[in-house]
Amino acid sequence: MTESPPKASYTTSNHGIPVESDEHSLTVGPDGPILLQDHYLIEKMAQFNRERVPERVVHAKGSGAYGFFEVTNDVSQFTKADLFQPGRRTEMLARFSTVAGEQGSPDTWRDPRGFALKFYTGQGNYDLVGNNTPVFFVRDTIKFQDFIRSQKRHPATGLRDNDMQWDFWTLSPESAHQVTWLMGDRGIPKTYRHMNGYGSHTYMWINGAGERFWVKYHFKTDQGIDFLTQEEADELAGSDADRHRRDLYDSIEAGNAPSWTLKVQIMPFEDAADYRFNPFDLTKVWPHGDYPLIDVGRMTLNRNPEDYFIHIEQAAFEPSNMVPGIGPSPDKMLLGRLFSYPDTHRYRIGPNYAQLPPNRPHAPVNSYAKDGPMRYAPSYAARPYAPNSYGGPAADFARFGDPAGWATAGEMVREAYKLHREDDDWGQAGTMVRNVLNDAARSRLVSNVSGHLKQGVSRPVLDRAVQYWRNIDKEIGDRISKEVNGG
Ligand code: NDP
Repeated sequence: MTESPPKASYTTSNHGIPVESDEHSLTVGPDGPILLQDHYLIEKMAQFNRERVPERVVHAKGSGAYGFFEVTNDVSQFTKADLFQPGRRTEMLARFSTVAGEQGSPDTWRDPRGFALKFYTGQGNYDLVGNNTPVFFVRDTIKFQDFIRSQKRHPATGLRDNDMQWDFWTLSPESAHQVTWLMGDRGIPKTYRHMNGYGSHTYMWINGAGERFWVKYHFKTDQGIDFLTQEEADELAGSDADRHRRDLYDSIEAGNAPSWTLKVQIMPFEDAADYRFNPFDLTKVWPHGDYPLIDVGRMTLNRNPEDYFIHIEQAAFEPSNMVPGIGPSPDKMLLGRLFSYPDTHRYRIGPNYAQLPPNRPHAPVNSYAKDGPMRYAPSYAARPYAPNSYGGPAADFARFGDPAGWATAGEMVREAYKLHREDDDWGQAGTMVRNVLNDAARSRLVSNVSGHLKQGVSRPVLDRAVQYWRNIDKEIGDRISKEVNGG
């Protein structure tokens, strides 16, 4: 929450000084020059020029709300994390977003959706920065920047460019699973309330006895999954570009608080070595039949931010915010994000971003950080160094140290993940097309893909795209070929 000063009925400057006019600048005679001493006018102009912070390169357009997370099932055998202990209720903030579009872009463009959560736990902020899909387009963080540039604007035309998108995807076959998802019904949710959220990465959970588990998070919408067809979404992009932001805000204002049920898949630590899929590869799911979903709790969003810029634009989520009982896995995308997210916040909103209202932990902060632009909360470290003899905090490994980690050894290499028995780029995408989608959903998939390919995708990318779909599923590839090539 922001501290609100007493409201005045008269206008003041930013420094609380009453101003003389909201309408007239200070001039020499009514037709004369404007005076530099009109410091209020100068304050207004200067402040206006600085109203924006750089928008996020990805996930620029977002909407969010505050709420709480309640534990409904006992998972303490898997994690000692404070927020997942029986009976716990934790305040939280959620931000949903599109990925490739800019701040003003329509909510209904086909795109994955961000599903970023911040839990204000008793042991500091836990951020789970997921998407509405359980997989991703690439599996190595070194390709992320290339992937995003292929989805953004063409350097010459300044336009989104389907040819660039398919060029990258068809040269990166690991994208097949996520592209199948994106081109299907889940690629345009009806609203933010009607989509699931997934932690996507594999994380580690550590219980009170120091035992380790691998975990995947699934937030299932209690509103029911629903989607927009391409035609509905195209129409809304013109008539109500902020449809999803409006829906979330209005629902909460009307007292219709959306909720999601958190379930997890738990993999015993030792299973990872020879599981049929590499469990750390972000382009793969763990089939539910192998690792069933276990209930954990429910998140409810019931409070709109009082100021969008302060609470949502300045919200800073970072996968590196992991609390005791939770750790990373060898997922290379996750490991890259642990660096990249805090780095982007330092650039975008400054090094003291953790002191801003949405990012401020509800737990005590006893860090040795000091100074820097816009810092206002004092340090309670007594002296700005550790150790010190004046009562400064000391790290408590006995209480909070996790033996989290995984055995690793070997030469330094630049290599793909070790392949497991059933690892390939096409298999799980094909399973989805054949076993999960029904006939109507398959037809919409064919129509969505061919519609996209017909908008500016040229040879040889087009031929590669048809082959890409034949690799996923021969029949779907043939149907797409018929649509785009006539045979
Ligand atoms: P299951 O039959 O147990 O699960 C299939 C899951 O697919 C459903 O539970 C649902 O997940 C999701 N789903 C349903 N309709 C669609 C759709 N139109 N587009 C995308 N996803 C949909 O099978 P498996 O677990 O063996 O997975 C089979 C395939 O299902 C996977 O290859 C993957 O593509 C997809 N899938 C798997 C998930 C997993 O974590 N195992 C999660 C989501 C999809 P939900 O209830 O989460 O909405």
